[in-house]
Amino acid sequence: MTARVLVVDDLAPNVKLLEAKLRAEYFEVLTSLSGEEALEIAASQQPDIVLLDVMMPGLDGFEVCRRLKEDPITCHIPVVMVTALDQQSDRLAGLKAGADDFLTKPVQDVAMFARVRSLTRLKQMTDELRYRYVKGAELGAVAPSYTDLDEATMVSSIMVITDEPFIDGLVEDAEGLPGKVHFHFENDARQSLDLIRSQMPDLIMIDLALESYDPLRLCSAIRSFENARLSPLLALARDDDMRKLVRALDIGVSDYLMRPIDSQEMAARVKTQLRRKRYVEHLRQSVNETLEMAVTDPLTGLYNRRYLANHLPRLLRDAKEEANPLSLMVIDVDHFKKVNDTLGHDIGDVVLREMAQRMNFSIRGIDLACRFGGEEFVFVMPDTDRQSAEAIAERLRSQIAEAPVDIGAGDPITITVSIGVATSEPGNLDDTPQDILKRADDALYKAKDTGRNRVVAQAA
Ligand code: GH3
Ligand code: MG
Ligand code: MG
Repeated sequence: MTARVLVVDDLAPNVKLLEAKLRAEYFEVLTSLSGEEALEIAASQQPDIVLLDVMMPGLDGFEVCRRLKEDPITCHIPVVMVTALDQQSDRLAGLKAGADDFLTKPVQDVAMFARVRSLTRLKQMTDELRYRYVKGAELGAVAPSYTDLDEATMVSSIMVITDEPFIDGLVEDAEGLPGKVHFHFENDARQSLDLIRSQMPDLIMIDLALESYDPLRLCSAIRSFENARLSPLLALARDDDMRKLVRALDIGVSDYLMRPIDSQEMAARVKTQLRRKRYVEHLRQSVNETLEMAVTDPLTGLYNRRYLANHLPRLLRDAKEEANPLSLMVIDVDHFKKVNDTLGHDIGDVVLREMAQRMNFSIRGIDLACRFGGEEFVFVMPDTDRQSAEAIAERLRSQIAEAPVDIGAGDPITITVSIGVATSEPGNLDDTPQDILKRADDALYKAKDTGRNRVVAQAA
């Protein structure tokens, strides 16, 4: 895996040293000698990670970090602060500014590469999601920016997997924790896997000192769950666990805490992870909504023609594989032009929406109802033979004809539809989606031709 690293330090020799080390490991390196310039490069070049010196004239590292994390263009880029002093107060200030981690000068190579790899991998896993989100925003399909959740009202559950009954420093009232946080301790790793599978906690901590189960195996097992790919996973490590910790970062833990745990640092790291989780959830939900919009007809809320074109072939293939019949009806509103001409286009729309509602009413979970275009609808019914399909069509036809449509003002109006039905019989392996649609359309034409307000099924 390769990644673009932005190295920021006001001292050129420091920059050169880190640059050489990173290049030797085949990272691409961008460099900057000041905070101001770093902000510009981060925004325009979109690196995968920033290694940021703390002490710089002008904008110092804390301020640069804060600004990177505030800007929607750069807030997703991980930031690692590089400090000369291993001062707890510096670490805290950095974490509070939104930094994802800390490295102490002189930088140890193993620690640096492990951290850079794990943070860039996590970022790259959400890049695709973020890309689709940005595309959606450009098309006007989703809100363009992410507004922070109200963290004060947030409730989060943290599962701690450890052999110990309790770990000092993991306190629910630690200063800096967002909203309400509940810790629950799990001593049985196997059972915790079951719990995670059924309901993913907001964050999981794994004690690397675990003896009842291999903690690294546990990390990779959790990461393999579909619902946990992007969930925050924190390792709890001691100084003599460094090798295990490097492995854990390779496997995909998102962050770690050194024991003994400082509760303020714990709070800051938990907050960063929970923020990231909410951000990813927000992206995912928006992208799903965008996809939903792409296949939905805005007037009626039914699926659109594009969706039918993609899914009818799949439904037909399934039917053939299982030797089930599949039926389809094409529904067309009778003399709809007259509704528009006499009552106006808006009333026409009301009628179309009402037609969609009545169809929705008779739909089963496996049926597919779509607006094919104008005043024409298609209704696909898997596992339905010709006789049943005809009965369903007849019921829909009479429900529409017998209950006039309320159009708000004036008397309700009577609307009728004509329906053509076609069935793909089991064993007919040559049938294509186009064939079935054509047969249903021919049947519809016959229904129109023989007086409308009727159902015609294809000739057997
Ligand atoms: P037939 O019984 O033969 O189906 O006659 P018809 O008048 O229903 O059929 P025709 O195809 O002549 O007219 C369909 C009309 O539907 C024409 C078009 O303006 C109208 N229409 C198409 N889409 C919409 C829409 O989204 N809203 C409204 N209000 N009207 C629409
Ligand atoms: Mg400096
Ligand atoms: Mg019509």
